Amino acid sequence: MERIPIHALTNDELAARARALLPRGYGHARRIHRRAMLEGRLAPADSGLGTEACAAWASSFSFELPEVTRVESDEGEQGTTSKMVVRLPDGLEVESVLIPMGRGRQTLCVSSQVGCKMGCTFCETGRMGLLRHLRPEEIVAQLLVARHRLGWTVRNVVFMGMGEALDNAANVIQALRVLNDEAGLAMAQERLTVCTVGHVEGIRLLHDHGFKRLNLSISLNAANDSLRSEIMPINRRSDLAELQGVLMGYRPRRNFALGVNYCLLPGINDTRADARDVAGFCRPLGRVLVNLIPYNPGSTPLTRAPDEPEVERFIGWLREEGLPVRERITKGRSVMAACGQLGNPEARALRRQAQPGAGERT
Ligand code: SF4
Repeated sequence: MERIPIHALTNDELAARARALLPRGYGHARRIHRRAMLEGRLAPADSGLGTEACAAWASSFSFELPEVTRVESDEGEQGTTSKMVVRLPDGLEVESVLIPMGRGRQTLCVSSQVGCKMGCTFCETGRMGLLRHLRPEEIVAQLLVARHRLGWTVRNVVFMGMGEALDNAANVIQALRVLNDEAGLAMAQERLTVCTVGHVEGIRLLHDHGFKRLNLSISLNAANDSLRSEIMPINRRSDLAELQGVLMGYRPRRNFALGVNYCLLPGINDTRADARDVAGFCRPLGRVLVNLIPYNPGSTPLTRAPDEPEVERFIGWLREEGLPVRERITKGRSVMAACGQLGNPEARALRRQAQPGAGERT
């Protein structure tokens, strides 16, 4: 029988599975799960279980965290941005980034897939293609490794690493349940953010799941269909009108504010008309907060990085249109940990070996 990873389950779910599977020691399941989540180790013996019960635990459940293969850091004015690379059991690697948010608070940006099939033209991960979805335990493990192996202090988790989170909606939703589980990791929904390029089926699933206080942000990057379809192929499947419609239906609470991420690409989406289009798209959506992200050139840049006057000019236009805007200060560029830069060269090489001709977008 394949062992069940306990970090794929909430405390309640583990207790139910243990009751069904174990002849002895199931009564300790809640405590064992909680300690694993909070201390990063599975230790049934610490709960006073005998040899037989411990063996039953070990044959039914696992708690294996991936190996950290690399940690790279970038010192910036706002603090240290660190990227960790972990190796999954099948040898593939994913990246997570610890981002300083000021006042000692840090956000962990986690991956939800190895690679991504969405093909956004400005994104390094999109160049890999999709290798596979991450399972719930592989998503949760990124937080557990960050905390318990690297000693990082993580306050918030954002699904903005490698992959389109809602292309892997079922596993991401289960990971959110485990992160949010009061009897386990107990991360408040307010501290969790799902970011999507506008995966409308996934947004509907998330809505149906009923997370009331979860944060949602979309990567907009262009608010007219021809430009958005050019730089974000998902727009050919679900255009702006459809995305706007589904977002209008996604209001889990009265004071919900949708995050709207806009990666500023000089010469591509940075005109006065582009700012007007963004405002037109956002107007029917109720409260929004635009996060303006200066483009981070990757290994094969789409364009250059915008300079500060260009960023300020575009922010000014958005504000003239009545939008609240916050500039996301570029962090981690030197270690390819900045937004749009995740997608390690080793993983791309693995994909090329597995599928000659793959890994480079056409
Ligand atoms: S921006 Fe996100 S959705 Fe688009 S290719 Fe990159 S990882 Fe995928």
